[in-house]
Amino acid sequence: MDLTPHLLALVAPVGIGETLAPAGRLVRASSELGLRLTFEDARGDRVHVELAPLEDGARRAAETERFGVSYRSGGAESVPEARGLAICRAVAEVVARNEAAVLARLAEARGVGAGPRIREVQVTQLLEPADGFETLSPYVGCLIGCRFCYAQSRLASTRALLGLADVPWGSYVDVRVNAPAVLARELAARPVRAIKLCPIVSDPYQAVERRYRLTRACLEVLRDTPRAPPVMLATRSTDVLEDAALLASIPRAFVAFSVPTIDDAVRAHFEPRGAPIAARLEALGSLRSAGVRTCAVVQPPLPGSVDALADALAEVVGAVSVDVLRGEEGAAADFDDPRYAHARDPGWQRSRADAIRAALAARGVEAFDGEVPPRLYGEPDA
Ligand code: SF4
Repeated sequence: MDLTPHLLALVAPVGIGETLAPAGRLVRASSELGLRLTFEDARGDRVHVELAPLEDGARRAAETERFGVSYRSGGAESVPEARGLAICRAVAEVVARNEAAVLARLAEARGVGAGPRIREVQVTQLLEPADGFETLSPYVGCLIGCRFCYAQSRLASTRALLGLADVPWGSYVDVRVNAPAVLARELAARPVRAIKLCPIVSDPYQAVERRYRLTRACLEVLRDTPRAPPVMLATRSTDVLEDAALLASIPRAFVAFSVPTIDDAVRAHFEPRGAPIAARLEALGSLRSAGVRTCAVVQPPLPGSVDALADALAEVVGAVSVDVLRGEEGAAADFDDPRYAHARDPGWQRSRADAIRAALAARGVEAFDGEVPPRLYGEPDA
């Protein structure tokens, strides 16, 4: 079920393109990562307003009987606190008037009991604006199920609204069966700066891709689009190799593998269902040989030899995103293990990230901040 129409019903009569003071014009409603409304003021500055069921106990800027309301900036500038609070209160006031009726309709629509853990769903929109690019997720939920994955708590509140069973992260996935058609429609309707496949809600090559091939179909849409935008695809699965030729045929495509350590015992502890480190490095080498631009992501750095990691990465990528641990999510027990407890310390994280950056620089490999390599926006390689 697509929750977006229910989200819009929560803020009725404010619809897309209409104004809610002091937030500004409502430009987008999305339910991919929780319930999010995006408003734009007269200067073009955007603010995201997020609704979540109150049960999760988090602090909120405003509340209704059933929802907490919070805000975050939609651009580089932060939102002044007084303005953020005023916007949340205005949204909460509208939601409070609608929530009982909307939740009743939602309960009726979803029926009794939880649906299957692999659900086929239809969506009305696919591309999700992020900071300087758009995200594209043919799947929501991930069977690889890394315990530190940032998606799990945010998706949990959406699933609670849908009345779905509270099952462990890594055991469910929504399959957006009409994703390629929606993508083609969205690309035809407006220019898109760059696209990142499956950043935080799923892995594009998790096991269900072999059955549904939606990532492949979306890549084919991108390949066939006139003036295709740059594409960045991030994965922990070597199944991406099955689409190496397709990825090489997209003019500005990067493939990134997460390589947080060179030590596969450490990988097995933190990412038991992810591909072994050696297989990831080999896949990056194969992709590069097939003409695909490659990069790697080290976030968070995990224990293991820095020099061996830098040596291995220098063989197969030209750029590496390096960042520190930003929350443990469900991996607290992994870090409680005495062998790895030191790795959760912010000081250890910072110094390890600095050491990796320095080791990469010494080998002529660019280390960058953020989610996409700066060269993504450049011209295709000759
Ligand atoms: S592979 Fe990515 S999306 Fe899937 S659980 Fe791990 S971190 Fe999350």
